[in-house]
Amino acid sequence: MNPATFSRRDFLAAAAALAAAPLLGASSSARAASPFVLPPLPYGEAALEPVISARTIGFHYGKHHQGYVNNLNKLVAGSEMADMSLEKIILSTANAPEKAGVFNNAAQVWNHTFYWASMKPNGGGKPAGVLAEKIDAAFGSYDAMRRELAAAAGGQFGSGWAWLVMEGGKLKVVKTGNAENPLSKGMKPLLTIDVWEHAYYLDYQNRRADYVNAVLDKLINWDFAAENLARG
Ligand code: MN
Repeated sequence: MNPATFSRRDFLAAAAALAAAPLLGASSSARAASPFVLPPLPYGEAALEPVISARTIGFHYGKHHQGYVNNLNKLVAGSEMADMSLEKIILSTANAPEKAGVFNNAAQVWNHTFYWASMKPNGGGKPAGVLAEKIDAAFGSYDAMRRELAAAAGGQFGSGWAWLVMEGGKLKVVKTGNAENPLSKGMKPLLTIDVWEHAYYLDYQNRRADYVNAVLDKLINWDFAAENLARG
């Protein structure tokens, strides 16, 4: 055995586990991810004001996200899924109509954790480095990508999500309905915007476009997108 190779592999495995941990909703051990717990918000409930109020975050994180966690725990209790990682549950229940309840709650737990990380106080601006190069290659410019992402978020009919994803080595904008997410379509999500009405109605009522534009310009976390791009 080559000790240098071994230690590097160990390091990479540990780094991957650490990187994935915030998305699993529990400890870094996949098997310990159930029963599922609500992961901590990466910032205080008032940290995204005035774009998103503490009141919205209080309900969205404290009631909606927590509710999906609670429902998921009830649904998987006593089944083989109680020992699965969140990602494995999502992949194994996607496109299985008889397991829609589990899929919806598992995907909503994952989507919301990913959404909180997709924003930060004083975010927005333009990405740099490799991510910026990939955006230019796929869309032609940052502005073109931003238009497409805003259009996807505004154009999703009813509840759902807008995403920047990597598919086949190329960046794309996609939108998904309800709990659907790109993981189950073999895509790698880089960031997301929640366009369910509960994400913005207390602050913006029917003005979804105002919410989307404010998130893109003032909160979106390009560092998080770049980390996801760099991850395996
Ligand atoms: Mn939501």
